[in-house]
Amino acid sequence: MNVDSIQNGIVIDHISAGNGMTLYDLLGLDQLDASIAIIKNVNSKKMGKKDIIKIDADIPVDLDLIGYVDPDATVNVIKNGTLVEKRKPELPEVLTDVIKCKNPRCITSVEQELKHVFRLTDKEKRIYRCIYCETKAN
Ligand code: ZN
Repeated sequence: MNVDSIQNGIVIDHISAGNGMTLYDLLGLDQLDASIAIIKNVNSKKMGKKDIIKIDADIPVDLDLIGYVDPDATVNVIKNGTLVEKRKPELPEVLTDVIKCKNPRCITSVEQELKHVFRLTDKEKRIYRCIYCETKAN
């Protein structure tokens, strides 16, 4: 595909350099049957370097997940070759089944069917803690 001319799809822009692959993995984009381009270390006036992900498919993206990885990213929705919507993710208060608790003694390690839920406990420092055992997510 020509990465510059997405007709209908999603462009995740202003991703901090290095976060592109993390987002790609967490969003499960490897399982998608569409053309996807990750462009790394793009020069940006505002940010120095940034990553960009272009998805040539009109798929729903998880804004909470993007906000967790990179609250400064922007999500552009492209329809018929034009930008129709710019969405700004926010730091989500709660993350459900996005990250897993690493504490081996946590109840989520024992009860496999439990959801992994993390709550934002420090907005400034972007710290999330497991709601069951308080273990900090990294
Ligand atoms: Zn836990």
